[in-house]
Amino acid sequence: MTASAQTHKFEAEVAQVLHLVTHSLYSHKEIFLRELISNASDACDKLRFEALGKPELLGGGSELRIDISVDKDARTLTIRDNGIGMTREEVIANIGTIASSGTRRYLEALSAEKKADANLIGQFGVGFYSAFVVADKVTLTTRKAGAEAGEGVRWESAGSGEYTLETLEIAACGTTVTLHLKADEDEFLQAWQLRSLVARYSDHIGFPIRMPVEKDGKATEEWEVVNQASALWTRPKNELTDAEYQNFYKHIAHDFSDPLAWTHNRVEGNQNFTSLLYIPSKSPFDFMGGGRDERKGLKLYVKRVFIMDAAEQLLPAYLRFVRGVVDSDDLPLNVSREILQQNRNLDKLKAACVKRVLDLLDKLARDEPEKFATFWKEFGQVFKEGVAEDFANKERIAKLLRFASTHTGNAEQTVSLDDYIGRMKAGQDDIYYLTADGYAAAKGSPQLEALKAHGIEVLLLTDRIDEWLSNYLNEYAGKKLRNVAKGDLDLSKFGGANEEKRKEAEKAAEGVVGKLKELLGERVRGVRVSARLTDSPAVLVLDEHDMSPAMQRLLKQAGHEVPESRPLLEINPTHALVKRLEGESDIARATDLGMLLLEQAQILEGAALEDPAAYVRRVNSLLVNAG
Ligand code: ADP
Ligand code: MG
Repeated sequence: MTASAQTHKFEAEVAQVLHLVTHSLYSHKEIFLRELISNASDACDKLRFEALGKPELLGGGSELRIDISVDKDARTLTIRDNGIGMTREEVIANIGTIASSGTRRYLEALSAEKKADANLIGQFGVGFYSAFVVADKVTLTTRKAGAEAGEGVRWESAGSGEYTLETLEIAACGTTVTLHLKADEDEFLQAWQLRSLVARYSDHIGFPIRMPVEKDGKATEEWEVVNQASALWTRPKNELTDAEYQNFYKHIAHDFSDPLAWTHNRVEGNQNFTSLLYIPSKSPFDFMGGGRDERKGLKLYVKRVFIMDAAEQLLPAYLRFVRGVVDSDDLPLNVSREILQQNRNLDKLKAACVKRVLDLLDKLARDEPEKFATFWKEFGQVFKEGVAEDFANKERIAKLLRFASTHTGNAEQTVSLDDYIGRMKAGQDDIYYLTADGYAAAKGSPQLEALKAHGIEVLLLTDRIDEWLSNYLNEYAGKKLRNVAKGDLDLSKFGGANEEKRKEAEKAAEGVVGKLKELLGERVRGVRVSARLTDSPAVLVLDEHDMSPAMQRLLKQAGHEVPESRPLLEINPTHALVKRLEGESDIARATDLGMLLLEQAQILEGAALEDPAAYVRRVNSLLVNAG
């Protein structure tokens, strides 16, 4: 540290991240090289983009590149790029603080769980700090493209709480990162080791990565390129290995895990573009929460020049888990976010991306059901939004949906709508479903009793979003989707009671129905004999156009006014409890029984009772009297 250097303290969170990174990345310590090369490559991308409007920024016209070298005596490893560089303010903002709100959430989650998951760290832009896994001191010197030689900056830190900053003269623009390696990290001084790491992790980087030519084990003055140095997606599919695709995914998605699947296509014709789209194998940390507003990971290139992260422009929200690259030959190079939004080519590009992703999912569903199941588990909830969001592809999306069903034995084994249709009974026109707060509640619901008795399958919709989904999915493959808890359930064509028999049963139950109506009064809209029940005494049903109770609860929780709607109580006149009510002449006891029927039905559909204490009192008094 020289006299003019100033000492700064890291933001508290940075110190925390540094600590976590150096401790949790230890078993993958070589990834620091990938992270630093990735930053150098981003810096070259940025300069190339800036230079579209200001070619003078490229200086002497020397090609953008990344140089790696070692000094065995000084025990240093240096990564240098001639990319965009940083100003003093940018160094402070980018390396001394943590800007991303995602990182803050990550830290909060970590301190809650008290454990660091190395797989998550890469997602939060803490890549630079991985240098401290192998180095006990890091020196970064940088000069912003277009800045004067005297505006260079030198940043240095031992990774423990503080760093120094100093302004100095730097001959060329770009950034140099020098790692002073820890005592036992000599392997990163070996050129062959570095070359193999570049080949493994950074081969796909679109800029040349160079290392000195070695002669008799000694570095010479001459440099040679040690990676492919061509943008991966521009290479022909048949020349690319799975490992190359996987490494590229890790680079763009900031993910340590391999992707689940990918689709790589070149389109030529009216519009020319290449897309390489990936489906991750795990949903990123905090995907459901913060994921929606911070959509990253789909990069837009125009003629091989990186333009911007454009996930929002290129994909609808229900496909926000997709990562990858789209490279268009037709968009203008100077395209801004605003211009992009109005560009007519964009809609076509977007439609093409959606088609690619849906094709890929179709293929997984058909040929690799296990992978599809993984996709469904990780992203199914988000994907379901597509039914409402993407009208043009509604049928294709619906085909890919999976639901729990009375046909399978557990919640994990899901079925498609096509599976369901294949198993429909002779004469069955509708696809039956039930919505509930959870699998157990759905599976045990009395609404299913008669359907079960007739061997009719029912889909069990139990995700939070399903209630909402069912409002948008009224039909599939010409079949209506019917909520079994709504309206009349006529099962006569499956051997259930026909019109005549029903009339008879209703006639026979007139007495008890009338009695219940009187006892329950305003609490219900009506009472009638049920065609749904075989074992339970009573169940609540809705009118065809009623909002379901679960939906009402959701809206109320969200602070909306919900119109008061009174339920319709259906009863099973053959049930002992109903019979007992029928024969009960004591008005107080009859009221208790009537209220119990209603309250049980409310509990079964997941509602909270208005007066739980009264309910408990009623149950207890019945129990005591029964004893
Ligand atoms: P990320 O790359 O995900 O943003 P990093 O921790 O790897 O997170 O880097 C933090 C920031 O530091 C980068 O976003 C960039 O602004 C800046 N930076 C790091 N390395 C370089 C470099 N070689 N050239 C220019 N800027 C850099
Ligand atoms: Mg980075």
